[in-house]
Formats: sequence, C-alpha cells, structure tokens
Amino acid sequence: MRIDFHCHLFQPIDTRRMVEVGPMIFKGYGFYERMVKKFSEIQSIETKNIMEKTIFHLNSANIDKVVLLPVNMKENQEVKKWVEFAPDIFIPFYNPPEKSDADVNVKEEIEKAIVEENYKGFKIMLTFRKKRLNDQLIFPVLEAAQKYKIPIVMHCGYPPPGTRKNVLTYSNPIVIDEYASSFPKANIIITHMGYPFTDIAIALAAQYPNIHLDISNLAYMMPSRLKELLIKANEVIGVNKILFGSDGNTPEMIEIAVNYFDDVDFLTDEEIEKILGLNAAKLLNL
Ligand SMILES: [Zn+2]
Repeated sequence: MRIDFHCHLFQPIDTRRMVEVGPMIFKGYGFYERMVKKFSEIQSIETKNIMEKTIFHLNSANIDKVVLLPVNMKENQEVKKWVEFAPDIFIPFYNPPEKSDADVNVKEEIEKAIVEENYKGFKIMLTFRKKRLNDQLIFPVLEAAQKYKIPIVMHCGYPPPGTRKNVLTYSNPIVIDEYASSFPKANIIITHMGYPFTDIAIALAAQYPNIHLDISNLAYMMPSRLKELLIKANEVIGVNKILFGSDGNTPEMIEIAVNYFDDVDFLTDEEIEKILGLNAAKLLNL
C-alpha cells in the first residue's frame, strides 16, 4: 500500500498559477526551473474538477491513499468534501484551534472532531502563527493524540518558498524534546525532516519511539540533499519511521515526488515501499 502522508487541498487554478506567476518570483531558482521541466514531461487531464485531476495523478503515481492536511479551521470543512468524493482515498486530518480564544473550549472541539467527525489525525500550524511547538495550545492536542492513538503532523522547518514570513524563527523541532516522552503513545511527525534543522530531527527520532520524520517537499525542492538525508537517517534510525509526503501545490507534484524514487539506488525495494506507504499504514492503523 502506498500512502502520501502530507498533502494539502489543491485549488483548480494551481498549476497554471505556478507556471505563470512563478517566473516573477522564482526565475532562475533551481527548484522552479526543474519543476517547469518536469511539468512538461507529465501527462495530465483537462477537467474543472480538481479532485478528479488529483485522483488521475494518484493513479499515475500508484498512490492508494492520501492524508489531507488542512492549514486552518476553514479547510477542516473543505477536507470533508474531498473525503465525500473519494472516501477510500482521502484521509481527513484536523487543524485544531490555534489562537488563544477564550470563547473556544479547545479540548471539547478536539474531542468532537475525532469522536463525532471522524478525523484521523492532527495537523499543527502553530509555527505559522508565531508560536513555538511547546506553546500551551499543543497540550490538549497531545492528550487527544495519546488517548485515541492518532498521529500529529507538526509543521517544522522551512515554510514553502516565497512565504516571506518568519516561520523559521518558530520552527525548530528541538522544543518537542520537552514533552515527547510524556506522551509516548502520541505519534509525532516532524515535517520536511525538520529542514534545515535535520540533525536535530534525526536526533529526536533516535531518542523517542513516537517521533517520525516526513520527507515532504524535499523530493522536488532538493533531491540531492534528500539523498544525503535519507542515507544519514537510515544509518541512525533505519527507515521504519520515515514517511513519504508530497506537499506540492499542484496534483502533478505528487507524481513528481513519487518519481524521485525511480532513481534511488541507495535503498532496497523493501525500504522504499516502507517509506512510500507501509510505515504510514501502521501509524494510521490500516
Ligand atoms: Zn505542508
């Protein structure tokens, strides 16, 4: 089974926007020039239905299931539409309330999301809201993850290129060290292998059984660095806690991220399949 553990909601306009607006911001950037070339090599379909287009590319990439990560509370609702469209493919995660708001009972909201609305995990965006990952808002989420044994994907490391917000200031995963052992059944996923805090991320995964690393966005942003990181991580923690994630802004990018593994000669086929889905299936109890 192959699972993309890190995917956001695409908008119908995304591919065109990426190619048309990109040159103004990213002209000459290695990742952008590489992406435009790869886009031209990938076959797509013309449709106004972005979910249909996504499924087309999932099929081309041989991906069976996709974890959908909402980045705000509005997207928690949108995620439901995708799950309704293809319940066997899309797995809904939940972005908990991340603003200190006296009117909201965070604990209640979270319980309701998991028990009544069937979300299968959490996506934490605190680092985009000028909060570190040891902010008090994280604790009700950790408690729920521990209680229901569901994973928490925490945005660590760099934000998407061109974000122009000081997300990095808040995104060092080192603060997870303060509580990882207090919630041993809460499986925490550090995104982007924590890049540029990758040594810290690998060290944390070596210390705590419940800390995992996703490789999202690295396959298309920095393929040669990803090779180094996978070799380095494998040397220390093996591959059982490494999860594939695409994290692109268009459905084509799922395919581009999976295709990275076509040229991987430094891992066995068995190791690759673990990264591409078998590890994720365990975390999701599939
Ligand atoms: Zn992401």
